[in-house]
Amino acid sequence: MAAAVRDPLTGAYNRRHALPWLERRLAPGPRGRKNLAIMLADLDFFKRVNDLHGHAAGDAVLCAVTERLSAHLRERDLLARIGGEEFLIALPDATPARARRVAERLCDAIRATPVAIPAIAAPIPVTLSIGVTLVPTGPGLVAPDLQSVLAEADRALYAAKARGRNQASFCTRSAA
Ligand code: GH3
Ligand code: MG
Ligand code: MG
Repeated sequence: MAAAVRDPLTGAYNRRHALPWLERRLAPGPRGRKNLAIMLADLDFFKRVNDLHGHAAGDAVLCAVTERLSAHLRERDLLARIGGEEFLIALPDATPARARRVAERLCDAIRATPVAIPAIAAPIPVTLSIGVTLVPTGPGLVAPDLQSVLAEADRALYAAKARGRNQASFCTRSAA
């Protein structure tokens, strides 16, 4: 059961766990009005890491990145690997300020220390781009369509890439 919802490489949750988790959180439940912060995080120029150091080194970087992201999140936050070098992160009950702080901290955590890998002489520098959207949820609010919410985060991610990568970008509706 555990294996069915985990990515075997990194141990992070997978898409199969993440999407229903988000659907549940977006549904208008009995809880008060809260923002759910949804982030799409994608490693920058990751293809280069594989090209320069090999696929096994790339895999080791993905594991190290997962550990760092996880270390900066709380137990009730969601961390899932939903693509090759792409992660979905969600923070329940996030104020715009907290969403911004966490997104920036995650970028810092990846940028700050190149990843040391035993088989490779010099640690590998990597950076992360993040697109963030903040979705209001709660009683009386219509649950937004998950695909539209993810598309919004993806547009913000694209903006972070276009602005030079290695940064977080907020969907305009969530700008704080
Ligand atoms: P960008 O900054 O635009 O995101 O550039 P990028 O190179 O990260 O993006 P691109 O989509 O061109 O390449 C992603 C690379 O991620 C390609 C593939 O080799 C690598 N990748 C995907 N999944 C895995 C994996 O499981 N292991 C390893 N080692 N590499 C992977
Ligand atoms: Mg990438
Ligand atoms: Mg990608």
